[in-house]
Amino acid sequence: MPVAAGIIVDEYLATADPDISAIGDCALFASPRFGGSLRLESVQNATDHARCLAGRLTGDKKPYDGHPWFWSDQGDDKLQIAGLTTGYDRVVLRGSPANKAFSAFCYKGDKLLGIESINRAGDHMFGRRLQAMGRSITPEQAADESFDLKSALA
Ligand SMILES: Cc1cc2nc3c(=O)[nH]c(=O)nc-3n(C[C@H](O)[C@H](O)[C@H](O)COP(=O)(O)OP(=O)(O)OC[C@H]3O[C@@H](n4cnc5c(N)ncnc54)[C@H](O)[C@@H]3O)c2cc1C
Repeated sequence: MPVAAGIIVDEYLATADPDISAIGDCALFASPRFGGSLRLESVQNATDHARCLAGRLTGDKKPYDGHPWFWSDQGDDKLQIAGLTTGYDRVVLRGSPANKAFSAFCYKGDKLLGIESINRAGDHMFGRRLQAMGRSITPEQAADESFDLKSALA
């Protein structure tokens, strides 16, 4: 069974042996959404992989196309990430680092790759909904606290 930085699986999470699949942390999976292969270590990735594989095994064969997100409680702070920010070249802050409540909107060019939030659950949920809709907002809108994020979801 081919292995690189994880067990190599296709977009259906199947290894080269069609009777063996790999999911979760150990799976290096083909990702049409992001191009190339990904291996992610998060609860979201593991549970969404499991749902995808369970679907295939019960006759509903679909490629894995989950939107990555992550949360972690770090002491009193809640870290949440919507999207994959690898490869960003511009970061715009929304909120107040001094008050420990802010989000980093990470862009590559004009494309919003993801939002990394500290104690800003609303920004995180916004990011997940925005990505599910395949939409973006500009860096200027992200930095402007008077810009109503909900308007981008309407
Ligand atoms: C310290 C730490 C903190 C984390 N914090 C977060 C977080 O805040 N948020 C988040 O989203 N993710 C977090 N993660 C990552 C998250 O825990 C993993 O991504 C997730 O548990 C992966 O699920 P999995 O089922 O792929 O693997 P695992 O949860 O690792 O499950 C693999 C299972 O296989 C068993 N196993 C291993 N080898 C064998 C064997 N040979 N035979 C039989 N059984 C075997 C193991 O005992 C284990 O029970 C954290 C991970 C660590 C280590």
